[in-house]
Amino acid sequence: MQMSEKILQFLSEPARETPFLVLDLDLVVERYREVKNALPDIDVYYAVKANPADEIVTALADEGSCFDVASIPEMEACVRLGISADRMSYGHTIKKESDIAKAHAAGIDLFAFDSAAEMEKLGRAAPGSRVFCRLVTKGEGADWPLSKKFGFQVEIAEDLLARAKNCGLQPHGISFHVGSQQTDPEQWDAAIAEAAALFRTLDRKGVSLELINLGGGLPARYLNDVPTTARYGDAIMTAMHKHFGNQMPQMILEPGRGLVGDAGVIQAEVVLIAERHNGKAARWVYLDIGKFGGLPETIGEAIKYRITTPRDGGETVPSILAGPTCEELDVLYEHTPYPLPKDLQVGDRIEIQSAGAYTWSYAAVCFNGIPPLKQHVI
Ligand SMILES: *Cc1c(COP(=O)(O)O)cnc(C)c1O
Repeated sequence: MQMSEKILQFLSEPARETPFLVLDLDLVVERYREVKNALPDIDVYYAVKANPADEIVTALADEGSCFDVASIPEMEACVRLGISADRMSYGHTIKKESDIAKAHAAGIDLFAFDSAAEMEKLGRAAPGSRVFCRLVTKGEGADWPLSKKFGFQVEIAEDLLARAKNCGLQPHGISFHVGSQQTDPEQWDAAIAEAAALFRTLDRKGVSLELINLGGGLPARYLNDVPTTARYGDAIMTAMHKHFGNQMPQMILEPGRGLVGDAGVIQAEVVLIAERHNGKAARWVYLDIGKFGGLPETIGEAIKYRITTPRDGGETVPSILAGPTCEELDVLYEHTPYPLPKDLQVGDRIEIQSAGAYTWSYAAVCFNGIPPLKQHVI
């Protein structure tokens, strides 16, 4: 995958101070339309946390997107940009009761929960709201699983949704997240099957649900190739028809990474190249961006970015890639060293591709005095 003309043009202009993220808004809109094409009957709720830039939120709003917010500041940003509360869901399952009250006061009436205590908070602070319950998934096939911290087993979800009315809430639906950077489109099937079974069980108990929230998980293109958006669309709709038959609920999808990941490129500079013999001989390449500067998804080397340099094409050397800070854990790739050009030089500018998601929003405020990552939306 090549960089877009707009990004190439931007990078060819007189050098800006690195590191920075440049994000091509056209690519975000293009991907949004691709998702809508692949899944025309689904309402898209962009997961704002992936990249909350005003320009992105505004462009997606103009395309008709809704928004999944995870905090009051995210909600307030959407409000400031003119997005009405009926186009937002508060999909985070860990909320302060005071924040629930603020969201409710602002008009949001669609909330997630995945614990009894959270349901009770919602009942007190957002009475009458529509709520959906998050199921746990295995996270298989995902490079960034979300399988421990969130979600219920089906039996508990059933019990709580059956009791939601007693808390003064409208039991509205089921959600799940198959894991972020989900590289296997078939992973939706098992979760959709569970959700459909739960719809039927609750229907027999007189609780009729209306919504299935299919979560996020659409991938960006990192080092390994990923299936096309159309294949995700096919797999998801095949599973929906198989398990829901003629009783199709309202469907929503909450892509974050999949909409913005491929639209951004980080340009960084090589600060130091050193041969070290600490345990094993290796070439260490230090960049001016690391785990604290916007690349924490390299934790466990989970997300493997594609990296390009001006000297690509010749001989390469496996290199350990590290960030610039004084912190020992600020190493990006050590167990899977990156083949980087043998003649790479200190001062070279390199590109970290598909870095539009979970970078700018993750960057530290001032560790080692380094300012947060700059973003240029073009
Ligand atoms: C983070 C998150 C998303 C977005 O996930 P991606 O894998 O980036 O698409 C969607 N829904 C919820 C509830 C989330 O927490």
